[in-house]
Amino acid sequence: MPDIQLLPETSAFLDRPHSQFIAGEAIAASGETFDVINPATEAAIATVGAASSDELNQAVAAAKTCFNDVWADFNPYARGQILNKLADLIEQNGEEIAQLETLSSGKSINLARLFEVQQSALFLRYFASWTTKINGETMQPSLPSMAGEKYSAFTLRQHIGVVAAIVPWNFPLMIAIWKLGAALACGCTVVLKPSEFTPLTVLKLAELARQAGLPDGALNIINGKGDIGEALVKHPDVKKVSFTGSVQTGMKVNQTAAQDMTRCTLELGGKNSAVLLHDADIDRAVGALLQLGYIHQGQVCAAPERIYVPNDRIDELLDKFSAALSQAPIGSPMDESNVFGPISNKPQYEKVLSYLQYAKDHGQLVYGGEPFDQDGLYITPALVKASSAEDVLMQQETFGPILTVMGYDDESELLELINNTPYGLGTSLWTNNLSAAMRMIPKIESGTVWINLHTMVDPAVPFGGVKQSGIGREFGSAFIDEYTELKSVMMAY
Ligand code: NAD
Repeated sequence: MPDIQLLPETSAFLDRPHSQFIAGEAIAASGETFDVINPATEAAIATVGAASSDELNQAVAAAKTCFNDVWADFNPYARGQILNKLADLIEQNGEEIAQLETLSSGKSINLARLFEVQQSALFLRYFASWTTKINGETMQPSLPSMAGEKYSAFTLRQHIGVVAAIVPWNFPLMIAIWKLGAALACGCTVVLKPSEFTPLTVLKLAELARQAGLPDGALNIINGKGDIGEALVKHPDVKKVSFTGSVQTGMKVNQTAAQDMTRCTLELGGKNSAVLLHDADIDRAVGALLQLGYIHQGQVCAAPERIYVPNDRIDELLDKFSAALSQAPIGSPMDESNVFGPISNKPQYEKVLSYLQYAKDHGQLVYGGEPFDQDGLYITPALVKASSAEDVLMQQETFGPILTVMGYDDESELLELINNTPYGLGTSLWTNNLSAAMRMIPKIESGTVWINLHTMVDPAVPFGGVKQSGIGREFGSAFIDEYTELKSVMMAY
């Protein structure tokens, strides 16, 4: 099928110069600029100004002023109304947002519509519904009275202040919403730094936020690479850092934040396992894992990268995966009939190719893994059979379209294999054996365990990692802890 038609609004947005969004204004670029590259063609599609240190200071000052003068005391119900209005505007501008997203990240247009538009609106509405329910508790102090007086105590949940939100390139708008929706719902204000590869949709979002009635300075966007992110984390008026990205960067961010005791939530990488137990329905698991493992070319933090299957069923699994992969259409992400598209950016493309070269050199590549013969950063989805649990492809996050399969015999060996990783984001078990699943769940070292599904992230369910996959939780009611401080009040009467 041909590519979909670009909307005139999309073309007009791309043609405009872009820079920072501070105190409700899109400001003109003042210095260095960088190009946004379409990974499907490798052509530059827009130019964005990188933030100077002056602009960074202005953005934090705008967020601080808005917090102190407006947002912290804003009526909670009215906060929720603005977030709901922003969700409406995301939907109303959904096709433009989806097109901008696909052009800058290579994500299939179908996925851009589903995740960056529909799910972003859904998550935002979830956070909007919490604004009127963020409360402390009353409690009865437990120590005996000294001289007949009585005691009472309660806690206040106080918004933390200016939040630095730093996000990656794989789901740029949706992950930005996870952070700013939570922060704004709790009464914090935000300075958001998108990835240098995908700044466009959050700039569009900032304009929509103003239209929705968000006060100037409540959401500010600054652009640039890691140095701007680092300067933001170090800023003394930033009271909380909410970071999503790689383990390597997350460790640096954590160290930088700790120097000033700045609160920090880290949502980092994974080397997630999908585990077929002995009774698993292989056809069902292959059908699902094909979608979940290779969706957005595997550039999904929670996607399965390690597949464990009983040794006596490994050949059946590899054959079924290979057959299914050979049928999946790959090509332009703006063509609605394609399932696979390009890798999102050149450094990631090079990284994936180097992992595939390793698999080839070690005789492990079972299917795919070839650069595609056309312009753009295309690689056919790959299937690898591991030689040992210590293989590079069983240990390191590839964040690419590579599933690595390994066999096992019994449950205790399997638990060791699942936990044999520095990561701990998500694990799925594919089984109808309730007893085995319930035995294993407490022993699996990961923030989420899915049964007969994988990668599902829902606003009502806390999400985050253990071990090197991160610190803190997003969603559920757990997010409230991350953006508020508890103040205890004790009284004698
Ligand atoms: P990255 O760590 O390279 O960059 C993430 C963000 O941090 C970018 O905006 C980048 O400019 C910024 N940054 C870089 N150096 C910085 C520094 N020193 N201080 C502050 N900010 C800095 O990650 P990426 O390549 O953009 O994203 C891919 C990674 O993100 C993968 O590891 C993936 O698993 C992870 N991820 C995790 C989740 C999750 O929820 N756990 C979700 C999506 C992606």
